[in-house]
This record gives sequence, structure tokens and C-alpha cells, in this order.
Amino acid sequence: MTDLILIVGAGPVGSALALDLTRRGVPVHIVDRADGPFHGSRAKGVQPRTLEVLKDLGVLDALLAGASAYPRLGIHLGPLTIPRTMIAHQPVTEDVPYPDTVLSPQFHTDRVLHDALHAAGVTVDYGRRVVGVEQHDDGVTTTFADGGTVHSVYVVGADGGSSTVRRQASIGFTGDTDEDDRMIIADVTIPGLRRNRWHVWPGRSGRFLGACPLPDGELFQVMLRLPAATPVSNDPDALQATVREALAAKKLTVGEFSWVSLFRPNIRLAEHYRAGRVLLAGDAAHCHTPAGGQGLNTGVQDTYNLAWKLDEVLHGAPASLLDTYEEERRPVAARVLKISTDRYDSFEKDARAATTRGDEERQLKLTYRGSSLCPEGPDAATAGVLHAGDRLPDARDAHGRRVFDLTGGPGFSVLAVGVDAETLERHRQDDWPAVHEVPAGTYGAQSPTLLLVRPDGYIGYIGTADSPAGAPTGIDDALRRMRRPTP
Ligand SMILES: Cc1cc2nc3c(=O)[nH]c(=O)nc-3n(C[C@H](O)[C@H](O)[C@H](O)COP(=O)(O)OP(=O)(O)OC[C@H]3O[C@@H](n4cnc5c(N)ncnc54)[C@H](O)[C@@H]3O)c2cc1C
Repeated sequence: MTDLILIVGAGPVGSALALDLTRRGVPVHIVDRADGPFHGSRAKGVQPRTLEVLKDLGVLDALLAGASAYPRLGIHLGPLTIPRTMIAHQPVTEDVPYPDTVLSPQFHTDRVLHDALHAAGVTVDYGRRVVGVEQHDDGVTTTFADGGTVHSVYVVGADGGSSTVRRQASIGFTGDTDEDDRMIIADVTIPGLRRNRWHVWPGRSGRFLGACPLPDGELFQVMLRLPAATPVSNDPDALQATVREALAAKKLTVGEFSWVSLFRPNIRLAEHYRAGRVLLAGDAAHCHTPAGGQGLNTGVQDTYNLAWKLDEVLHGAPASLLDTYEEERRPVAARVLKISTDRYDSFEKDARAATTRGDEERQLKLTYRGSSLCPEGPDAATAGVLHAGDRLPDARDAHGRRVFDLTGGPGFSVLAVGVDAETLERHRQDDWPAVHEVPAGTYGAQSPTLLLVRPDGYIGYIGTADSPAGAPTGIDDALRRMRRPTP
């Protein structure tokens, strides 16, 4: 059995995972049942925390080159257009280098990830529909509709809401699909419609028509939430006709369609993220309403949590490390699901609340506090504002360099906050990862502090540098839990 990891689904989530594993030297095979890349705009909001992840994966500049800032809303009420800011612009600060959500249609995000994969020597194997997944003691055999098979050590199902991998692994997907709630989503040109606004025409009972200008071209993403009783077929011509009619009612004419689809918000969460050698990520594990722009972001961050754990386990770390993937990520999805559902439902009662985005959506405060992987040390209270499990904010080291540049990349690191050279030398072990010194007081530390930073940028351990029971021992213990054995 090889170390190969099979990734099913080359959407944003499968592609981000493939890229992260590839930069670690882990062999991957990524397949997709489609004939080629997805060309719809579907998920268009990329959140600040995801931007940090994409920066670490080396694709942020390419993403930003085809993205834009979010436009203001223009809410059309009869003859009036009320301007409204959905996402308030945030200043760049020392700890948050990418504070604003950016608008990047999914076809662009996918392309950027695929280009990077291609540059790393990995090509998506299109036209391969998975139909069977069978686990053995030492691996998994995956069967395709074309009769072919692939043997791998793990399979990751990133195959979207209707995941075959999830069903093959007999993992339940609990929640609701409201069959009466349908939305048509289309990428179209609308000659004459101003591109400086995300136009919204509210309707009755939470229904609406929206047209958001997409960057880098003439397209708008149109969203049309239909009244419950409207008969609608899945036929693209019928969907196009419905969109034309809705826009005509606003005295607008559609130019060309580049993509159209019918969407039913699905609100579901997988009962488990792992069954033996099968793991789930992205929409295969959690489906949300489109409100709040969280699906793609939560999925990409699933993979950022998973990739390093797979890498460590393949190289000898305890297989139980993989259980912490579900432990850390499933509660995040449950929370995101609740917030996105609340936003979506509130459109009916309070359009202002439904169209306001804030800290929750930016995903920077998301934490794994309380995870078994990041226990709180005995002297955590004196370690400042941060806790084990928190995202490490950016800062400057003693030489003025950005901490994100020092701690980025696929490995662990240690930060020594205000620790003098003698103390550091006394505690530092030969098998510790690179140690970077940052000035006293950084991160609100009240005393000399050591932090272990995980490969995904979360704090694995934090404690006072010179406490005998504290940081040095804590860092050793944490590394034993999380990392492959050192030779
Ligand atoms: C209107 C709308 C707006 C949205 N806006 C946002 C937003 O602003 N921000 C955000 O974060 N999210 C948003 N989302 C959600 C987002 O689109 C999804 O969360 C995201 O696409 C999930 O990515 P994924 O890679 O998990 O799955 P997908 O993108 O669904 O990709 C799954 C892939 O698996 C392949 N596949 C499926 N079955 C098989 C099989 N049996 N064998 C092989 N391959 C298979 C498919 O062909 C597909 O390419 C929005 C969704 C909608 C509908």
C-alpha cells in the first residue's frame, strides 16, 4: 500500500486540500465526476481568515488579482434606492493583515487553486465518478463508474452536499431541506444596469431578486428566491426564462447567460467527519444557506485543519490525531450553520439584520479552545489575552519581520515572547521546531511566554517561560501529541 491520498471532488475544498498535501510532499490523486472545471460564480465571498490560509498556500496574490472589494447594497423600494453597507470596511492592523471579505466568484477561486496544483505537477482527473468505497485493514479501494479502481491509504470526500463518499461510509447527514424554498442562481450580463451596487429588490415573505456585479468582466450574479407555490423545472431554458421575466419586471433586459442553476438551501451536518480511513470535508460534511458566505470558507478551513494531521499521521504520529479533526471542525460547522440559517430566515422579518455582516462571518475569532489537542496550561492566566486553541494573530518579531512570514509554511514553530536568551537556551530542546523571538508584551503577554504554533496557525500550547510545570514541558507534551516521532 502506498501513501497515496485519494481526494474525491475538485471543487474549492478538494483542491485546497490537494494543494496543501502536495506542498508537504504527500502524494495525492484528485478526481472529479465533471468533465472539466466548474464555471459558475456560486460562492463569491472569501473571508479574512480564508485569505490568510490562501496566503500560506501561496495563492493569495493570484486570487486578489481577479477579485474585488464587496460593493455596497442598493436596495430598490419602488422609485427609491437605499444605499447600504453590508460589510463595513476594516482597517489593516498589525494583527489582521487582510481584514476585508473579498468578492471572488467560485470559478475564479477554483481556477487559482487548479493553476497552483498544475504548477506543482498535479492535474485533476476529470470524468471519474466515484461509485464505491471499500475499506480494508490497510487501505481503501475506490471504484469508479468507468469500472476503474484506485487503492489509497485514506480517502477524503470533498464531493459536495450529495456526497457519494459520505453515503458509502454510512455517515448520516442530519438536518433539513425545505423543498418549497428554491432559488435560481445565474451568471448573466444585464446591459445598462449600474455596476457600482449589489442591487436588491425585496419581495414578499423574504423572497427577493438580487444582482451582484462580479469582478473582471460584465457578469452579474443574479439570485432569485422564488415564492413557495411557484412551479419550476430544472430545465435550463425554463430557468433562464424565469430570470428574464423577473428582470423584465424591473425594466431590465438580460444580455447573455453564462451559467444558471436551481438551488435548494440544505441545512445539514454530517454525524461524523471520519469513519476509519474515510474523511469528509466541505459541503460533504456541512451544508448551509448561502447567507453570510460561509460554505466555501468553512470547507477550505476544514482542509487546513486536516492536511497537516494527515501528513503527521502518515509519518508516524498517532492515528488518533485524525479524530481531533472532527472534534475541532464539527462544532465550527454547527455554529456556522446556525448563524447562516438565522441570517437567511431573518430576511423576512428584518432585512437590515439579514444583510449585516460582522466578526462571525470574518472567521478570525474562530477558536479551538477546549480541544483535547490544545489543553490549557497551568499558568495560562498570566500568558496574556491568548489561549491555547486560538488563532495566532500576526505581529512583528524582534527584527520587525512579520510573524506570519516566520510561522507560515507547513511546519510547527515556537514563539518566545520577551524571553531572555539564557532562559530560552535552558529550556529549548533539540527536537523543538524553529524558535522566533518577539518583543516582550506582544499579544498582551504579562511575563516571558512560550507559544507553540501549529502548522495551521492555531496555538497548540501557551505558558510562562520559566515556570517549571509550564511551557517547556507543555510544549514537549503537545509536540508528542501532534507531531511525527523525531528520528
Ligand atoms: C448562491 C450561493 C452562494 C454562495 N455563496 C457563498 C459565499 O459567498 N461564500 C462561501 O463560502 N460559500 C458560498 N456558497 C456555498 C459554496 O458554494 C459551497 O460551500 C462550496 O462550493 C463547497 O465547496 P466543496 O468543494 O465542498 O463542494 P463543491 O463545490 O460542491 O464541489 C464538489 C465537487 O465534487 C464533485 N463530485 C460530486 N460527486 C462526485 C462523485 N461521486 N465522484 C467524483 N466527483 C464528484 C463535483 O463534480 C464537484 O466538482 C454559496 C452557495 C450558493 C449556492
